[in-house]
Amino acid sequence: MKTEILGVQFDNLTRQEAAQRGAELLEENQFHYVVTPNPEFLLAAEGDREFRNILNEADLVLPDGIGVVYSAKILGTPLKGRVPGIEFAQDMLECLNEKGGRLYLLGAKPGVAEEAGRRILERYPQIVLCGTHDGYFKDEQAVLLEVAAARPDLLFVCLGAPKQEKWMARWGKHTGARLAIGLGGCLDVFAGNVERAPEAWRKLGLEWAYRLKQEPSRASRMARLPLVLVKAAGERAKGKKKAGEDQ
Ligand code: UDP
Repeated sequence: MKTEILGVQFDNLTRQEAAQRGAELLEENQFHYVVTPNPEFLLAAEGDREFRNILNEADLVLPDGIGVVYSAKILGTPLKGRVPGIEFAQDMLECLNEKGGRLYLLGAKPGVAEEAGRRILERYPQIVLCGTHDGYFKDEQAVLLEVAAARPDLLFVCLGAPKQEKWMARWGKHTGARLAIGLGGCLDVFAGNVERAPEAWRKLGLEWAYRLKQEPSRASRMARLPLVLVKAAGERAKGKKKAGEDQ
C-alpha cells in the first residue's frame, strides 16, 4: 500500500518490513532500485517531473526524514514510521553478509568509499567488496562500465539527490546488480567522517538538529524544510474544503 505525500508515493512499511522486502529484491535475478526521500527530495520533486517519476517508479520508496512522517500525519494518512536509509542499508549489508554477496560503493569524495568499505568489511566479513569509486566523475558511462565489470549484487549509490536517483534510473539495469540504493551522505557515516545522532536525539525526532549542529553550513539548505509541512497543511486544507463542497 502506498501513501502519497506531495506527489511522491511512499511505501508504508516498518523498518523490519522494509528489510524483508529488500531481502526479497536481493534474491531476485533482476535489477531493482530503492529511494529514500527526505523533505528536500519532496521540494525538489515538485519542480522536476523526471525526478518525481523516478522516485515513484522505484521498487521501494522509504521515508527517510521525520519531516516526511510529520507531513503524512498532517495529511491524515500517517505512516508506520521513519525508515532511515542508513538503517535499511545496514539491514541489506546483514543480508548480503549471510549470502557472501558482492558489494560496490559508488559516491562521496575520493578515499571515502574505500574507508567505508574497509569498515563495512570489519563488521560484515563475509561480504566481498568488489569495487569502489568516488562520486565526482564526469563520464557516467565509464563509471557504469567499471561497476558492471565488478559484478555487484548490491550497489550503494551516494551522489546526493537527484543525481543518484537519475544515475540509478539511467544506468542501474546495465550494472548487473540486483539491488541499488540511493543513500546520500551514508558513505561519510560508514567511513566515520560524519557521526549519526545519538539514539536519544533520534527517538525525539531530532536527527536533523544534530546534523545541523555538526554541519552548520547546512543551515540555509535546511531552512526551506518546514515548507514541506506548510505545503502538507495546505493540501489537507484543500482536501477538507473540497470534501465540504462535495457534500
Ligand atoms: N556527492 C558526490 N558527488 C556529487 C555530489 C555529492 O559523490 O557530485 C556526495 C557527497 O560527497 C556526499 C553525498 O554525495 O557524500 C551527498 O550528501 P548530502 O549531504 O547531499 O546527502 P544527504 O545525506 O543529505 O541525502
